[in-house]
Amino acid sequence: MPGLFLCLLISVYPDKQIYMTVIQKLKIAERPLVSVEFFPPKTGIAHNTFNKGAGELTCLTPDFVSVTCGAGGSASGSTLEISKQLRGLGYDTVMPHCTCVGVSRGELARLTDEIVAQGFRNIMALRGDPPRGEKFFKPAADGFRYAAELIYFLRQRHPQLCIGTAGYPEKHPEAYNKAEDIRHLKEKVDAGADFVTTQLFLHNHVYFEFVEKCRAAGIAAPVVPGLLPVISLEQINRMRTFCEFHVPDVLLRNLEAAQNDPVKMERIGLYWAIEQISELVESGAPGIHLYLLNRAKTAFYPELFACLSRVRGR
Ligand code: FAD
Repeated sequence: MPGLFLCLLISVYPDKQIYMTVIQKLKIAERPLVSVEFFPPKTGIAHNTFNKGAGELTCLTPDFVSVTCGAGGSASGSTLEISKQLRGLGYDTVMPHCTCVGVSRGELARLTDEIVAQGFRNIMALRGDPPRGEKFFKPAADGFRYAAELIYFLRQRHPQLCIGTAGYPEKHPEAYNKAEDIRHLKEKVDAGADFVTTQLFLHNHVYFEFVEKCRAAGIAAPVVPGLLPVISLEQINRMRTFCEFHVPDVLLRNLEAAQNDPVKMERIGLYWAIEQISELVESGAPGIHLYLLNRAKTAFYPELFACLSRVRGR
C-alpha cells in the first residue's frame, strides 16, 4: 500500500519527488542518486562562500544534500540552521547529520525532535569524532558510546525517519580489523539504519570489496560511495589527519609532479574523480555522494559537471 501511494505521488509530481526520503529515492531510482555534503561555515567569509556555492549548486539538482555536525549541542544548532537555509534555496531533500559528541540522550531527544518538527525526514546518525586534541571518544554523561545506540534510539523515537549511517571501506581507524568493523556496521543496520554512506576512498576496488564483504555479512542496505574530488596534495594531507584512506601511487606521483602548478594539480584530481564515478556508475553503485567541502566551484569543472549530469540522466 505505501508503495502504491508512492507511485501515485510520483505520477503527480514526476520530477519533484518532494515527499520522498533518501531511502525511498534509492529504492525507486533507475539511475544512481547524486548527493552533496555541506558543512556549516564558521566564519563570515566562509559564510559568504557557502551562500554563493550553495546557491550555484542548485543547478546540479542533487537528489539530496547532507549537512555535517561538529561536536556538541550548539553545533547541532548550526547544522539545523544550515539545513533550513538549504531547504529555502530549493534543495528538496536535506539530511542533517547528528552526532553523540558531548550530548546526553535527553539532549539528543530534544535535538532530533526539533529536526523532525522542522519537517526533516532524514538524519545521518553518527557517533562523531573526539573533540580536537583528544585521542579517544568519551561518551557524555548519559550519552551514547556508539552510533548503533543512537540509531536504535532514533528508530524507536521516530519510526518513519530515514536514517543513514557511516561505513568505512578502508576500516574505521579505531577498529581492530575490517571484519570487526563490518560486524559493527551490521549492528547499525540491524538497529535501524536504512542506508550506508562510505568514507571517501580513491581506489574503487576498496569500495567493491567492501560491498562484497557487507553482503556476505548479511548487510542488505544500499551502500552509497562517498567521493572527494581531489584538488591538491595539501587537501589530501589535511583530510588524512582525520580520516584514513590510501592514496594510489600513480595519483600521488602525478600530483607531486604538478605541485607547482595548482591548475594542473586540480585537473589531475578531478579527472581521477571522473574515472572513479564512471566506473562506479557502470558497476551499479546506488549513488555518488560528493564531499565538495563547500567548494561549489569543483562541481562546475566542465568535465565533472558533464559527468554528473550524465549520472543524473541529463
Ligand atoms: P561507530 O559506528 O560507533 O564506530 C566507531 C568505532 O567504534 C568503530 O571503530 C567501530 O568499529 C567501533 N564500534 C562500534 N560499535 C562497537 C561495539 N559495540 N564494541 C566495540 N567497538 C565498536 N563526524 C562528525 O563529527 N560530524 C559529521 O557530520 C560526520 N559525518 C560523517 C559522514 C560520513 C558519511 C562518514 C563516513 C563519517 C562522518 N563523520 C562525521 C566521521 C565519524 O563521526 C567518525 O568517523 C567517528 O569516529 C565514527 O563515527 P561512526 O558513526 O562511524 O561510529
